[in-house]
Amino acid sequence: MKDYILGVDQFLIPFGKRYPFAFNKAKGHWIWDINGRKYLDLTSGISVVNFGHANAKINSAVFKQMRKISHISNYYIIPGQVDLAQEIMRKSFPGKAFFCNSGAEANEAAFKISRIYGNLKKPGKNKILALTNSFHGRTIATISMTGQEKYRKGFEPLIPNIEFIEVNNIKDLQDKFDASTCAIFLEAVQGEGGIIMLSAQFVEEVKILAAKYEALIIFDEIQAGMGRTGEYFGYQNFRIQPDIITLAKAIGNGFPMGAVIVRNDVAESMPYGSHNSTFGGNYTACAAALATFNELNEKLLEKIQKLSKYIQEKLEGLKQEFPAIIKENRVYGLMVGIDLTDKADVATVISALMDKKIMTLRAGANVLRLLPPYTIGRHEIDVFCNALRDVLVPLK
Ligand SMILES: *Cc1c(COP(=O)(O)O)cnc(C)c1O
Repeated sequence: MKDYILGVDQFLIPFGKRYPFAFNKAKGHWIWDINGRKYLDLTSGISVVNFGHANAKINSAVFKQMRKISHISNYYIIPGQVDLAQEIMRKSFPGKAFFCNSGAEANEAAFKISRIYGNLKKPGKNKILALTNSFHGRTIATISMTGQEKYRKGFEPLIPNIEFIEVNNIKDLQDKFDASTCAIFLEAVQGEGGIIMLSAQFVEEVKILAAKYEALIIFDEIQAGMGRTGEYFGYQNFRIQPDIITLAKAIGNGFPMGAVIVRNDVAESMPYGSHNSTFGGNYTACAAALATFNELNEKLLEKIQKLSKYIQEKLEGLKQEFPAIIKENRVYGLMVGIDLTDKADVATVISALMDKKIMTLRAGANVLRLLPPYTIGRHEIDVFCNALRDVLVPLK
């Protein structure tokens, strides 16, 4: 263990601070560290292994595929891509798919599609709108449209002609949306930003303005998709039909993959050669994603919605018990944000929970975030709530 801590400092670029824990085994929502200690994972590796660690069916599909063929490149037909595209569209909307390897890449593709779509429509129609507090990835284009200074700082000059609208501010939306707008990027529920859901009125106004100015509505479903909010995709919480959705994180339940689904007529206007990927949608990734989509069904969504109600009730109880510490609970399916007042520092709360063998995440300014695997049940929610109570009592 000690060697690995030293090794991290010696051999890895310190891009991110790491907790001094290393894990080497996991199953469902349980994970074991290299010393054999068992933890309850309420993070799913940031909403990636949503269908449980070491999911037997998904693993078996991956092993089976790898014994046959794993990669050949997009110069040839990859049958799994066609099957997977159809499967995604059955749960979203008809269109065309492109497969890549991560969330940033999916948004990067959507960004390029938006620009080429706008520029072909009318010279100068290439303004991209995004929201404050958003998160869309770590490449240059995606930090350029991420509305949080901490991800952008130091990398200037960024990509021009991107404007930020204050999340859920309709006036700001009306002021900045115009004929030069080619697309607007939205997260149904902002994840990294602190579990903040779009308001129905805001989404309605997006619909009106996008229709008026012929701009694309893009939902970044990388965190809020794949059943996380209790719907297949986050946008399905609203009465809206997006032109593009981007997927990644849980799409392969841990196998790296990203996807972009684009409305038919927009996809058809893309010139040959305008975008591609070497790894994107290879046989193994498609097998992982197909098996993952096989797990994502109505029955599972019902389970997520039921557990969601249960967490809401339990957390409301805690809020009443600790009114000076818990400002607000925001629970959408199994996407949970517990907004803390300055009486509790979220980093301290996370460490204290880790001491109790429970893994949680932070988000936004001071929000405790849970993105548990869908394998959990009421018992695990009780375990978490009891542990959180123990952590909060001394802060009262
Ligand atoms: C994680 C995330 C991304 C970036 O995905 P990567 O796979 O890390 O590139 C983009 N958008 C949202 C909403 C995310 O949560």
